[in-house]
Amino acid sequence: MSIENNIKFFNDKLRGTRAKLIAVSKTQPIAKLQEAYAAGQRIFGENKVQEMEEKYQQLPKDIEWHMIGHLQTNKVKYITPFVSLIHSVDSLKLLQEINKQGKKVNRQVPCLLQVFIAREETKFGFDESELLQLIHHFPAELTHVQIKGLMGMASLTHNQSQIRSEFQKLRKLFEQLVAHSLPPAIEMKELSMGMSSDYSIAVEEGSTLVRIGTALFGERNYQKT
Ligand SMILES: *Cc1c(COP(=O)(O)O)cnc(C)c1O
Repeated sequence: MSIENNIKFFNDKLRGTRAKLIAVSKTQPIAKLQEAYAAGQRIFGENKVQEMEEKYQQLPKDIEWHMIGHLQTNKVKYITPFVSLIHSVDSLKLLQEINKQGKKVNRQVPCLLQVFIAREETKFGFDESELLQLIHHFPAELTHVQIKGLMGMASLTHNQSQIRSEFQKLRKLFEQLVAHSLPPAIEMKELSMGMSSDYSIAVEEGSTLVRIGTALFGERNYQKT
């Protein structure tokens, strides 16, 4: 299967659902991103700041760049001028830094709050009570971030019902917040969940952004980077 056919396959799959396709291009060479671009793909997801910056500089400017990986505060400044959405905001400290850097470039930087829903301790994110605490006591000084929704990653398991229940947990939290009156800096529009192995469950459970890497581009070659 070519990248072009894979993009068509996913666009067909997602037609009529709420979900948009994010092509997760981390570790992939520019030529593969160009192929996806030629097939009409305009949203790309990366997890390393330097790699995203290099690709941003080399590719057409109508691409939306999404940061999906764990982000260190000292690297935020490199992406705030151009990033379309940061999915992986997992601490108040990080949010404060994004706000500070957003102010410098006069942008309200769009962010998702990452929620910890998996069983593995290795994953990042707010737990439910931390999330509610942050949202309901949102610091007024954070004028240069715009919260657009939530992101989560299910456990790496073959147990489909466990994956489904983790996505359901996130969806319920999302819907509970949608029903609340929220501070002006917070909207609940996007629910980023689902990757190559679990996107169909995620879409059934209400995902609006699926993050697909290997199923579009093939296996990643980590030695190269
Ligand atoms: C790499 C990555 C993906 C894509 O994973 P695939 O299994 O290749 O589809 C999705 N989300 C995040 C946060 C990632 O780091």
